[in-house]
Amino acid sequence: MIGMRDYYEVLNVARDADADTIKRAYRKLAMQYHPDRNNGSPEAAERFKEATEAYEILRDPQKRAAYDRFGHAGVKGGAHAPGGFGFDFSDALEIFMRDFGGLGDIFGGMAGARARGGARPRRGPDMRAHIPVTLEEVATGTKKTLKVRVNDVCDTCNGSGAEPGTQPVRCPTCNGAGEVRRVQRSFLGQMMTVQPCPQCRGEGQIIESPCRTCDGEGVRPVEKTIEVNVPPGVSTGDYVTLRAQGHAAPRGGARGDILAVLEVEDDPRFIRDGANLVYELPITFSQAALGAEIDVPTVGEGTARLKIAPGTQSGRLLRLRGRGLPHLQGGGRGDLIVRIKVWTPTSLTPEQEKLMRRLAEIEQQPPSHVDEDDERGFWSKVKEAFGG
Ligand code: ZN
Repeated sequence: MIGMRDYYEVLNVARDADADTIKRAYRKLAMQYHPDRNNGSPEAAERFKEATEAYEILRDPQKRAAYDRFGHAGVKGGAHAPGGFGFDFSDALEIFMRDFGGLGDIFGGMAGARARGGARPRRGPDMRAHIPVTLEEVATGTKKTLKVRVNDVCDTCNGSGAEPGTQPVRCPTCNGAGEVRRVQRSFLGQMMTVQPCPQCRGEGQIIESPCRTCDGEGVRPVEKTIEVNVPPGVSTGDYVTLRAQGHAAPRGGARGDILAVLEVEDDPRFIRDGANLVYELPITFSQAALGAEIDVPTVGEGTARLKIAPGTQSGRLLRLRGRGLPHLQGGGRGDLIVRIKVWTPTSLTPEQEKLMRRLAEIEQQPPSHVDEDDERGFWSKVKEAFGG
């Protein structure tokens, strides 16, 4: 997680920027950092998400006013998730698609097809699907089977929407152009507006006898099974774009995409931080005092042998290099950080109690302060271990 930057700074706009300026600034950043244009770089994804979050707050006059008055605290949880920043990458994608219609529109995929003067072949809508993956699957990468309900071209009418034996006819309202021009008079003079034709909804043709299989839609829903390759090292919110595998469009339009958004299930044994994992290992008094060799679990790679030195304190962090998770972009694995926890027995047999009492008579007192046992310093030590 990166620190929260000022939203105006993120979008690089003045504090009194108008709605249009904010939208333009966001669009520029979104195009620059869209992960599809950055080989899925996590850094670009983070910038994309950050810009989208800023845009989502500043485009809304109420949220913007709250942000102006109270800063991030004024809008926490206001964007999407309750109770904090649950604003994740897939939210960002959804907002981007909501306001800009996905990459197709912006990067030219559709721009050509929407050339003036012709009916527009519609592209099938994009859809999102969620894929749960375990930490084990993150370690090795995996193939998942995704079952989706998508629109397919209707076999009966081959997507035309017209009953077999009949043909769609040219729309009389727009004469096949798909759009209508209206001249409006205003105090500024005459203004020409161009709108999609209301009769044919921009398609340029109308169906007089609709196909009975699909009710003239040209598509019908089917169950589809799709194999998804999940690379090693993914995190929750990462997604795989299944190009042109989503909804079919009627009348020859391109199929939409499926965004398969990954959700990594929690593994109660490990805390994950990117490619690194933290594991807490309980050991006994005697193992801590005398030293030991203990097998600790890894993710997807069996166990790893850990050597514990005599005199090891509770809270000590030991690092097993390269035994964490693979990096998403390739290039090795993170580390497994083992946190030692000296386990105090909750009940003693008579013999153990006797030995403990004997030990109590002869053991030395602990020092008044031991840095390594300082619980408050644990996370800063984890960070140190990760960073070091
Ligand atoms: Zn049909």
